[in-house]
Amino acid sequence: MMSNQNLNQHSAILAAIVESSDDAIVSKDLNGIVTSWNPAAERIFGYAATEMIGQPILKIIPTDRKEEETEILRILSSGGRLDHFETKRMTKDNRLLDISLTISPIKDADGKVIGVSKIARDITELRQKEEKEAVLAAIIESTDDAIISKTLTGIITSWNPSAQRMFGYSSAEMIGQSILNLIPDDRKEEEPLIISKLKQGDRVEHFETKRVTKTGAIIDVSLTISPIKNKAGEITGISKIARDITEKKQEDQRKNDFMAIVSHELKTPLTSIKTYIQLLQARAKKNPDDFTISALDKADVQIKKMTNMIHDFLNLSRLEEGGMPLNKTKFSLSELLEELIFDARMLFPGHEIALQLDRDSSIFADRDKIGQVMLNLLGNAAKYSGAESLIKVSVETGAGKTKISVSDQGMGIMPADQQKLFERFYRVHALHSSNISGFGIGLYLVSEILKLHNSEIKVQSEPGVGSTFYFWLDHA
Ligand code: ADP
Repeated sequence: MMSNQNLNQHSAILAAIVESSDDAIVSKDLNGIVTSWNPAAERIFGYAATEMIGQPILKIIPTDRKEEETEILRILSSGGRLDHFETKRMTKDNRLLDISLTISPIKDADGKVIGVSKIARDITELRQKEEKEAVLAAIIESTDDAIISKTLTGIITSWNPSAQRMFGYSSAEMIGQSILNLIPDDRKEEEPLIISKLKQGDRVEHFETKRVTKTGAIIDVSLTISPIKNKAGEITGISKIARDITEKKQEDQRKNDFMAIVSHELKTPLTSIKTYIQLLQARAKKNPDDFTISALDKADVQIKKMTNMIHDFLNLSRLEEGGMPLNKTKFSLSELLEELIFDARMLFPGHEIALQLDRDSSIFADRDKIGQVMLNLLGNAAKYSGAESLIKVSVETGAGKTKISVSDQGMGIMPADQQKLFERFYRVHALHSSNISGFGIGLYLVSEILKLHNSEIKVQSEPGVGSTFYFWLDHA
């Protein structure tokens, strides 16, 4: 038997536990009238103790579960106990909670059941988390993408069915093994690079590379790689989603080959037409005939336009093949610009084209490619501005670098489009420019050619006012 003092101490400890518990601890008599209600019960169900004590417990039981209560009381009255009984309860503001109940009888000194104590744990979040996890697990099981997770040292920790389909290894073969098994020998250095990026908190998206399967076949994949973080935000692992893009790559390759062949085949007859026109021009000068001279000049301009387009296509296909070799030489910028502006005045005769040059600089770059950059910028300036408006080419010589700008007084470009202009095949969809033809590759090439020169194309533009495209080139 406990002494009185011990008993008091014991009750005090119990009271403190009931007060501070995260679980709702509630007692009721055999008629279902609440006799105690702790702070956690207030927090979970929203009713204060004063609102519940003396009230029926049915207040928190959803209508379709009322008979549960009778059943619980029956089990308890006959001396039973219920552990982790999962059910639903209703809060004061009518939210349904998932609850796990542990219910025990309260007995008097004679062992007679006089009431019931209930410990209720709110498992709503747990249930929601479990549901979310089940949905995620189903997605991971059924997706066409390989989803793999690994430790920071590259040891595989999970492997979904598509990873098995794509790489040929079963999860039993791969879990616990190094991810390096999937990386071709000449790309092994990619792995530490990716890990160092992730450690800095970056995500790697749509990174196109090659991987090797169990049979040794090389496949093209697009990887999206993200860090797995624990609650404290520390990176504990890495998840990889790999998409097999081998077919897409082959399709791209076929398109590229097609584009290269078409451009090449178009160039040959064009060169010969150009030669005939030059012959005719020479002959027309001997027996002057205004109509013939002007018709031949016009034909010459059209040939130049077509040649520029074909050059763009050839360079696009070269870029796609992974290389546009540069042939860098030292040349005079003013000479190149004067030549180009002479051509541009012929090609876009409606426009006034002005050259503002502070002094000549000697540049070290690929002269033809820079010429192509300028012709594309001048062509756009003419295409996207009103006839007879001014196009200005300005050159500012700085220390070691020269800035070249092409300005127009045309329709301008909205800020949202300005960021996308340099993407391949991007064209602005606006009513006022819908009848202007183009392929959407000019600015992409401009940007790529300048990147190869360690430079960058920039744009400043105001809709309705005009645009300026500019870049810097290194001095020789
Ligand atoms: P496109 O063959 O369509 O001209 P580009 O790559 O040269 O292709 O240009 C992409 C898009 O950028 C164009 O479709 C046009 O909408 C916009 N753009 C380019 N230059 C200008 C400019 N100077 N003024 C207004 N819009 C321009």
